[in-house]
Amino acid sequence: MSTTVTTVRRPQVKQTQCFIGGKWVDSASGKTFETIHPATEEVIAEVAEGDAEDIDAAVDAAREAFDHGPWTKMDARDRGRLMYRFADLLEEEADELAGLETLDNGKPIRDSKGADIPLVIDTIRYYAGWADKLQGSTIPVRGDHFCYTRREAVGVVGQIIPWNFPALMAAWKWGPALATGCTIVMKPAEQTPLSCLRMAKLAQEAGIPDGVINVVPGYGPTAGAALVRHPGVDKIAFTGEGATAKIIQKEAAETVKRLTFELGGKSPNVVFADADLDAAIAGAHFGLYFNQGQCCCAGSRVFVEDSVHDQFVERLAGMNSARQVGDPFDPATEQGPQVDKDQFDKIMKYVEYGREDGAECVTGGKRFGESGYFIEPTLFTGVKDEMRIATDEIFGPVMSVLKFSDAEEAAERANKTIYGLAAAVWTRDISKAHRFAAKVRAGTVWVNCYDAFDSAAPFGGFKQSGLGRELGAAGLDAYTELKTVTVKL
Ligand code: NAD
Repeated sequence: MSTTVTTVRRPQVKQTQCFIGGKWVDSASGKTFETIHPATEEVIAEVAEGDAEDIDAAVDAAREAFDHGPWTKMDARDRGRLMYRFADLLEEEADELAGLETLDNGKPIRDSKGADIPLVIDTIRYYAGWADKLQGSTIPVRGDHFCYTRREAVGVVGQIIPWNFPALMAAWKWGPALATGCTIVMKPAEQTPLSCLRMAKLAQEAGIPDGVINVVPGYGPTAGAALVRHPGVDKIAFTGEGATAKIIQKEAAETVKRLTFELGGKSPNVVFADADLDAAIAGAHFGLYFNQGQCCCAGSRVFVEDSVHDQFVERLAGMNSARQVGDPFDPATEQGPQVDKDQFDKIMKYVEYGREDGAECVTGGKRFGESGYFIEPTLFTGVKDEMRIATDEIFGPVMSVLKFSDAEEAAERANKTIYGLAAAVWTRDISKAHRFAAKVRAGTVWVNCYDAFDSAAPFGGFKQSGLGRELGAAGLDAYTELKTVTVKL
């Protein structure tokens, strides 16, 4: 646990208003809300609190930019060029953006600098390359007809994102939307609106026309719900909780909106006795504790083959004790605070459930420090499949270790969940790895690695973990409509 010296300069907060039609405006009601630094609980800034009226204005701006603006008429390659310029500006401002992310979310600066912001830049660049590569096909239909398809932008997209990777979630959603020529109204999470607002400013500086990207900060049941209901919005892309997705699905049905969801998980991470144990232990540690456990794909159910269980637990516990928890602006810090008090309380409640249900708390289980929402890296052993810590998404630094004795059993128990976002397997036996990969019901399977993301590799959930895919070529599908044109010759 670290004694901290803040060595990284804190960024200046410049954008706190709504960004609508290329202008910075207060919310129509004049209301604001506070965003806080979770390490100290201090108020960072007052941010405009958007609601239905602001969403109306943003959708009007996005609609105008889609229906009449230069954006959709522009040559696709020029749209790509603007996106490359946007990525360059993000790169120039990378330190500032990383600082903003750490300030607003509390994640360690080494992560926001080393992972979040580089991935943001990579995502925008990757999708810039797709702008001029969206093609239809010619179809050999019966009779004297020529038939072809066009892939066209779906229109105005409403995008609602969570707080765990604020800038990266914005990039995952802006990348395919911009490449396909859509226009955007984004509602960032109320806990973390700052990096997304700064990104909108940089997009404007890059030359992306006004009205293409609009950002309305505010709360879910007000601003978010207004966006979902709005008849001028063609598609909703949402990342967040399953319970919220179910509300959105009902509301969106009224106007038959296209939907993509990236939701929660309870991902199994299976360690066989024949694995490279050094790599497996480090991978399990990273796979759960990275980002304070606030990852939708966190490897929160770690299944360990019984013959290596005790050794695995002992070494993992050692890593937990050595983990540097503290000031996220200290470059040595590995773990910062949880994002807010609600999350902190929810996680501590699950620690109680773990104890009540009979699991053994080997490390952590307590608050770290006096202020801020820090929780010690927590490890439970003796966990059974039906315990609440093994069934529910905790979204915090709490790992459950479960013992297993054969491959068939491991795959079956891995699948005993309503979720299906990610899974991992550690073994030196490639047949075992491929058999598990085929059997597990999850959108992503990592073999001998964890959280190996790439902008080109699709990501999304089976079962209640989502609808559709983000990233890669597959991520473009939900942002296009397929139009069939048939010509009588
Ligand atoms: P949340 O669903 O409460 O909030 C997410 C967003 O939805 C926020 O912007 C919020 O304001 C908005 N929202 C809330 N109620 C709404 C409503 N009625 N209508 C419209 N919008 C509404 O989720 P959270 O607690 O902020 O985020 C954590 C969850 O996100 C976890 O369950 C996690 O697994 C999931 N997540 C998934 C992925 C993924 O890619 N699969 C990535 C990150 C997070």
